[in-house]
Amino acid sequence: MRLFEETLSIPINSIPRGNTSETFTLEMKNVPWSIPGASFSSQEGILDLDIARTEYEIIVKGFLEADFTVECARCLAPVVFPVTAEIERMYSWNPDMLSDPEVEPVSHNDGTVCILHPVREAIIFSLPAMPLCTEKCRGLCPRCGINRNLEECEHDFEA
Ligand SMILES: [Zn+2]
Ligand SMILES: [Zn+2]
Repeated sequence: MRLFEETLSIPINSIPRGNTSETFTLEMKNVPWSIPGASFSSQEGILDLDIARTEYEIIVKGFLEADFTVECARCLAPVVFPVTAEIERMYSWNPDMLSDPEVEPVSHNDGTVCILHPVREAIIFSLPAMPLCTEKCRGLCPRCGINRNLEECEHDFEA
């Protein structure tokens, strides 16, 4: 199989009938992740795919492993999270299947199956809603704004 990193899509004509498994090493900077509040922090990501192709369907299962950086919800320091983002999607040519919101159309425009959207969703789902640099993070002083993990200030902070 081939994989276009710039769109995270697989040309249909490179997907054989039956079951295919392949592991790709992604150059993370080539992929347009655009995930709000997070950026990739590993140079490479592992994309492991199991693809089953039948006459009318292509079923894509797999996962992406990579590190992403987000801000600590309390002190805004960057925090790295190793992410395993799992996907499972069905793509179909059959118009009757497409009324199911879980089923994506196979694009005839460019002849590819695009997995960027599901992988991006899975990454967002895998990241914590309230990321913390440490459980004990003391956050920023609400009055003067210093990082209370690093410095003391004269303002008493009551939780
Ligand atoms: Zn923090
Ligand atoms: Zn203060």
